[in-house]
Amino acid sequence: MRKITRRIYIGKVAIGGGAPISVQSMTKTKTEDFRSTIKQIIDLKKAGCDIVRVAVPDERSALVLKEIVKKSPIPVVADIHFNPKLALLSLEAGVAALRLNPGNIEDKKKIIEIVKKAKPLKVPIRIGVNSGSLPKEILKKYGGPTPEALVESALNHIKILEDLDFFDIKVSLKASDIKTTVEAYRIFSNQKDYPLHLGITEAGYFLSGTVKSSIGIGILLYEGIGDTIRVSLTDSPIKEVKVGIEILKSLGLKGGEPDIISCPTCGRNTSDLKKIVKEVEKFLKKNKISLKVAIMGCEVNGPGEARIADIGIAFSKKFAIIFEKGEVLLKVKKEKGVEIFKKEILKYWKEKSASL
Ligand code: SF4
Repeated sequence: MRKITRRIYIGKVAIGGGAPISVQSMTKTKTEDFRSTIKQIIDLKKAGCDIVRVAVPDERSALVLKEIVKKSPIPVVADIHFNPKLALLSLEAGVAALRLNPGNIEDKKKIIEIVKKAKPLKVPIRIGVNSGSLPKEILKKYGGPTPEALVESALNHIKILEDLDFFDIKVSLKASDIKTTVEAYRIFSNQKDYPLHLGITEAGYFLSGTVKSSIGIGILLYEGIGDTIRVSLTDSPIKEVKVGIEILKSLGLKGGEPDIISCPTCGRNTSDLKKIVKEVEKFLKKNKISLKVAIMGCEVNGPGEARIADIGIAFSKKFAIIFEKGEVLLKVKKEKGVEIFKKEILKYWKEKSASL
């Protein structure tokens, strides 16, 4: 069961309090380069990204933010480190949220100023604790970046905001290894009900990053922890979003998306299954069909293995067998199989939609 956290809003996107889990990413362009940044944001939105974070390393970036926020089709979060002026400029630019660790800002008056500005605008602040940037005294106390150290650092930052009567908070506790990250989120989740942003930091290149993120984020989501996710990859942010969506789909946490079950193929397979899977996936997405669809290489094991699918297809040398919930519906010539399958999917989808 999902843990019900406090509800906050990032722009129009509801976070926590039972809202659907959002997928986030971060632009990798120079923020001051408006054209490239907005193009990447639009591409991210097309890939299914719900919220985008943009680095604000200097005033030039902060000044371009206004135009980015105006043109962005999804809420923009400003990522600020240390410099309170950049946070204030980002708020003036109209960002939907700030990622900022108040404990890292030395001038306490500036924190008050930021909070005073963010509060009436209903702009939440994400406190993002990373194992690589924990304060020295905490590292000394715990002997390193332990889960408890991450949590204590987050609580210290939170207290600064709570003391200023600010509760529109989201928290992330990222370490580069799965064990520390998972444990930190578990401990925190038992203590506070602020919504949580999940991720494994510096997860790596596409393959290792995908595996690490899927396991780390997956364990937590499975335990009901997490309200937004970001898969960090040393790769295109579009891939981050696609992997994030797949993680949610694999745990049944992403509504409105098709779920394809396809077999890995073996010596019994006699079709170009990869091509067929791609074609059917494109068809499902184009028609916005969110069914569980099975595409299996052979008729021996296919229908049985895919019994949990709404509708499926399995191939033999000469035939294609279409089945619903594991029961055979049609047996047609192989060459016509995919076309007939698409028609049957549409029929099933219309019937299902009408009965809802
Ligand atoms: Fe092999 Fe058939 Fe199973 Fe696919 S469904 S892996 S082809 S046995």
